[in-house]
This record gives sequence, structure tokens and C-alpha cells, in this order.
Amino acid sequence: MISIFLGPPGSGKGTQAKRLSNLKGWPQLSTGDMLRGNIQAGTKLGLEAKSLMDQGLLVSDSVVIGMIDERINASDCSNGFILDGFPRTIIQADALNELLELKNLKLNRVFEFSIPDEVLISRLTGRRTCLKCSSMFHIVSAPPKIFNICDKCGSELVQRQDDSEEVISKRLKVYHQQTSALVQYYSDKNLIKKIDATLSVEVVEKNILALI
Ligand code: AMP
Repeated sequence: MISIFLGPPGSGKGTQAKRLSNLKGWPQLSTGDMLRGNIQAGTKLGLEAKSLMDQGLLVSDSVVIGMIDERINASDCSNGFILDGFPRTIIQADALNELLELKNLKLNRVFEFSIPDEVLISRLTGRRTCLKCSSMFHIVSAPPKIFNICDKCGSELVQRQDDSEEVISKRLKVYHQQTSALVQYYSDKNLIKKIDATLSVEVVEKNILALI
């Protein structure tokens, strides 16, 4: 199954994509994680993306389209995959259609994570991320067992640079201006499944599974 997890930053797309991936074996393709991987590895692409990401702005369409194009050719994607954070613009969505068509693949579902901005701001400012395995925690609602240490791999947790209050407001603005139009785009194709993302991680997961 090929699905898109569409929603604003902090709506739980990444968390749910990881859980579904573990459960069903479809890889989670997160363009944000791929870009952060490039930054950590110090690649040219990472260097170019970093300043845009730190400001809460989108990286160019051609860069993320190229990354997805390459990634979906890998053998672990042959039974399907979960797109997390891609597409984020109409140009990316059109490019995805073309890529899938070329490979004779069909997009099955688009899960729209619906949640008010106020809830997102408190979620994101308390979020802590493992730089090594990208596991996510929250200082109040999902703290790690040991302060600032990843439960899964034991690495140090950090606050993402773009999870500061100032950058979060910018990212939400960018979402409303450039990405939320995709809800209509995929509604027109009858692919949207709306998810109430204010509910607990377990309930959201159950609701997603019921729609698969
Ligand atoms: P995320 O981890 O999905 O919240 O993405 C973090 C940042 O990476 C975003 O704020 C963008 O700067 C960049 N990014 C991730 N995915 C995309 C995309 N599909 N298009 C453009 N920029 C992206």
C-alpha cells in the first residue's frame, strides 16, 4: 500500500508513520529525516538545505522530488511505502503522480492529520528528537525514561533547531500557505481520509488501521 501522511508540523505524522511502518513493514519515507541525514553527513545538499530548514522555509521542490524518486526505487519499497512530509506543494504532488505512473504504481490513501495550531505550538516546543535514530519524545506527554537520553538507542536527545517558537510559527504559516491546498487536491481524487490528530497516539493509530 502506498500512502501519504499529510498534516502540519507536530500533528504526529512521523510518530504514526513509524508505528505503521513497524507494524506492516512499509518503509517510512520522511523527506525531513533525509534532509537532516544530509546535514549531519555534511553533504552539499545538506549545507544548502540547512539555512532554509532553520528558518522554517521549504527546500526546493527539485531537491525533494529527486530524493523521493531515488528512494522509491529501492527494493524495500516494492510492497508499498509511507510518505511522511512529502509532498508539501502542488508541484511535488504532480511530480509524485508522474513518478508513480511511470512505475505503474497507484497511490492508495492520503491521511489528513487535522489539529488546531494552538495544540501544535505546545507539542512542538516540548518535542525532543534523537539525532541518531529520529525517535521522538515530549518533555511532558512522552518523556524518555532517562532525562534527555533516547529510550531506543541511548543517544542524546536534542531540540530540533526548527522547533523553537519563532520558527514553529513560520512553519505553520508555510503549511497553511503552501501545503494545506493538497487537502483539496487529494479530496478531488477521492483519496483523503481525515484523522483527528488531537487524540492519543494509540487512538490515532487504531483509527488509521481501521481505514487501511
Ligand atoms: P519535517 O521533518 O517533515 O517537519 O521537515 C523539516 C523541514 O525540512 C521542513 O520545515 C522543510 O524545511 C524541509 N522539508 C521536509 N520535507 C520537505 C518537502 N517535501 N518539501 C520541502 N521542504 C521539505
